[in-house]
Amino acid sequence: NAESALKKAKLSGERYLFYQPSMNEKVADTFLLDNKLRRAVDRGEFVLHYQPKRDMTTGQVCGLEALIRWNSPEDGLVAPGKFIPMLEETGLILEVGAWAFGQAALERQRWQATGMPTPRIAVNVSAIQIRRADFVQSVVNAVQAVGASLEGIDLEVTESLLMEDVSGSIEKLEDLRNLGVNVAIDDFGTGYSSLYYLARLPVQFLKIDGSFIYTMTASGHSKMIVSTIISLAHALGMRVIAEGVETREQQQLLEAMHCDEMQGYLFSRPLPAEQLAPFLLQPGG
Ligand code: C2E
Ligand code: MG
Ligand code: MG
Ligand code: MG
Repeated sequence: NAESALKKAKLSGERYLFYQPSMNEKVADTFLLDNKLRRAVDRGEFVLHYQPKRDMTTGQVCGLEALIRWNSPEDGLVAPGKFIPMLEETGLILEVGAWAFGQAALERQRWQATGMPTPRIAVNVSAIQIRRADFVQSVVNAVQAVGASLEGIDLEVTESLLMEDVSGSIEKLEDLRNLGVNVAIDDFGTGYSSLYYLARLPVQFLKIDGSFIYTMTASGHSKMIVSTIISLAHALGMRVIAEGVETREQQQLLEAMHCDEMQGYLFSRPLPAEQLAPFLLQPGG
């Protein structure tokens, strides 16, 4: 049987692989997705949706986060979790990531031209992008190429990524800061930040990972982590954003902890640009 065959194979030092139909399917799926993504880049099938951030003191929209979606002719609107890893593997993320900066800057400029309120927009960035020596220049170029400016553009990056190359990160973040780009550490609390380096990184926002927010009302442990992150951010002179806020109870807890900003389905889902207008024009509450 399979078990004794595996034992034998191990004993004899052979490499053994049991055939499973799902393996071949997975490989085929991967090639198919790779080709479809290349085509998607060429045809410009990506769109940005925007999720508002709410200032917890004033109730106003105080920023937007740009979240990419793939408008696939076969599969409809595809979430980033399904294709960002493949864009990263193939290096296509460099092109798509630059596009996201250009697109966010362009759409913001268009809203501004119509007299709409135009909050700042934070664009998410992958490790592969920020690791490159020419990262800052590529952002500047992408925005210039579409005839827009970096005004009102910020970025979100995960903590592990900055800690990988602290001195390189500091330099790039300082260059961005000089261009008026604020930086948020995304999914904070899930990585391995060194507090020593965190205090030295030129970062203006900490964004608490949604996993702590979802469990906060049931778990004293998560609640303690959230309140500690808020205190830490404030001690370091940073603003703090809670992501994934879905209930009033979570909001009330965060208010009591003096969290600065919140984001989540309770306030708004990520919206396509054309559905955002009425939302931005609403008074806060
Ligand atoms: P993230 O930056 O941490 O974004 C937060 C995710 O949580 C988003 O998922 C958002 O739609 C979702 N979310 C927001 N509010 C709630 C809520 O109340 N409840 C729940 N359950 N979820 C909520 P999304 O849009 O699927 O994006 C997933 C991840 O993909 C993002 O995580 C980000 O890391 C990455 N991503 C998105 N756009 C881009 C991009 O343009 N470039 C890169 N490199 N990565 C991106
Ligand atoms: Mg983000
Ligand atoms: Mg996040
Ligand atoms: Mg997250």
